[in-house]
Amino acid sequence: MNNTFDSSVVARCTAQIVADLPALEWITDARVDRLSQDFYWFSPVLKRELTGLRAHAVVRPKTEAEIAAAVGACASAGVPITLRGSGTGNYGQCIPLHGGVILDMSAYNQMLWVKPGVGRAQAGIRMGEFDRLSQPDGWELRCVPSTFRSATLGGLYGGGFGGIGSVNHGPLAATGNVLGVRAMSIEPVPRVLELRAPEALLLHHVYGTNGLVLELEVGLAPAHPWLEAVVCFEAFDAAIEFADALAAAPGIVKKCVTLLAAPIPDLLPQLATSLRPGQHAVFVLVAEFCEPGLVQLAGEFVGSITHRQTAAEVAQSKRTLVEFTWNHTTLHAMKIDKSLTYIQSGFAAGPHVSQAKALRKMLGDEVLVHLEFIRSKEGAPTCSGLQLVRYTSETRLNEIMQIHRDHGVFIANPHVFHVEDGKQGEVNPDVVATKQRFDPAGLLNPGKLRGWDQREALAARAASGDVSLRTLPKF
Ligand SMILES: Cc1cc2nc3c(=O)[nH]c(=O)nc-3n(C[C@H](O)[C@H](O)[C@H](O)COP(=O)(O)OP(=O)(O)OC[C@H]3O[C@@H](n4cnc5c(N)ncnc54)[C@H](O)[C@@H]3O)c2cc1C
Repeated sequence: MNNTFDSSVVARCTAQIVADLPALEWITDARVDRLSQDFYWFSPVLKRELTGLRAHAVVRPKTEAEIAAAVGACASAGVPITLRGSGTGNYGQCIPLHGGVILDMSAYNQMLWVKPGVGRAQAGIRMGEFDRLSQPDGWELRCVPSTFRSATLGGLYGGGFGGIGSVNHGPLAATGNVLGVRAMSIEPVPRVLELRAPEALLLHHVYGTNGLVLELEVGLAPAHPWLEAVVCFEAFDAAIEFADALAAAPGIVKKCVTLLAAPIPDLLPQLATSLRPGQHAVFVLVAEFCEPGLVQLAGEFVGSITHRQTAAEVAQSKRTLVEFTWNHTTLHAMKIDKSLTYIQSGFAAGPHVSQAKALRKMLGDEVLVHLEFIRSKEGAPTCSGLQLVRYTSETRLNEIMQIHRDHGVFIANPHVFHVEDGKQGEVNPDVVATKQRFDPAGLLNPGKLRGWDQREALAARAASGDVSLRTLPKF
């Protein structure tokens, strides 16, 4: 079966499935429009390409049996299924290209267990809720996106990268962060399989194209009361060198180090009293007992601490700096300046600071520097960029991304919706082979995985020994 679907047939079959499964929670009214979208509009390119696409119906199952009933019915009828967590992805990952059913996982959201250093939950659990339940035992998720309040664990695994905590633990894909997943196949009689790491990572960041993740088992980090602070600098070089030193400081327990170069802080009026106009700001989360180390380091780099809140004060105020980091910076800035868009980049561990300085000098006011300090997948301190770009044309946007590549900076292009055109970068035969196992009819989020069109050629290469594929356990 190829990836072409007759819209009127899909519409008719979907309506029949809705009628056949009345016990499930279905949404078929105007809310389907909203539930067919994510934050794709961050990109002017995706906005042009994806606006108006929608599913025919949304189903919100609460149990594994309900998920299996919806999946089995869609598979029997050949109806596309697009998985959705909370729809906070920002590359149109959960926008259906061919209509059909959106399977909203957000009601499948139970915490299963927490043990020292590891926890397991159903995929639809919100990450803020996971932490709320695990923190009393002294543990929390190792990295969460700035959308932690609403975004689901399954959505981070299916479409995300990492976030707050990646300064210690790297991206979600770093070895040891994901220990296992329980996944369902898309077949008339769905089957379920537990995949342990490293095979568990085969379904990661592939936009829900090669398997439906029911449960995730993930490594946890010790939970601390986190002090939130802003350190402001007159000079960019001092700001980036401070951020780099803090991120690497082995004696300071931290969770987030974010550099927002001027004029980005001026685009955050909500924090105006905590910022200095025209200055560069570093947003940090450090364990409260590490405040003296933070103060000392800020002094060494001639930074001024302009904002400080204890964990209790953050909880009381209900406003956290976290929701001004990562792509929340993009969101707030775009609300103030509609000409902005963004790019996503990975600097080379080692020369990352000099790369960032050189690019800032070269691109001037056209690219506003926003860096998140992280560890690479291999563990080396580096930074990831979510630079804001003054958008003039798609051609210029592509040139800016190419200039970064020419300086040795990796670009995870956020203006594309195919898995391989973004962070993955190329067709991964293991990902395609996994889809063949879990989704033999190609019904999961069709049109997003380029490699699916090459599956026969890849299978032939694997059979001839030209490509060696990971062996997956049997159902
Ligand atoms: C303001 C803003 C800030 C952000 N900050 C960050 C950040 O700090 N770090 C980061 O990594 N990302 C970030 N993102 C992107 C996004 O919020 C996160 O990746 C988030 O974890 C996605 O979760 P979700 O539940 O909203 O997933 P969705 O957007 O609903 O889904 C994401 C993808 O995963 C698939 N999927 C969902 N559930 C499953 C499942 N059970 N099985 C298989 N596939 C599934 C979907 O089909 C889709 O392709 C940000 C986005 C915005 C708009």
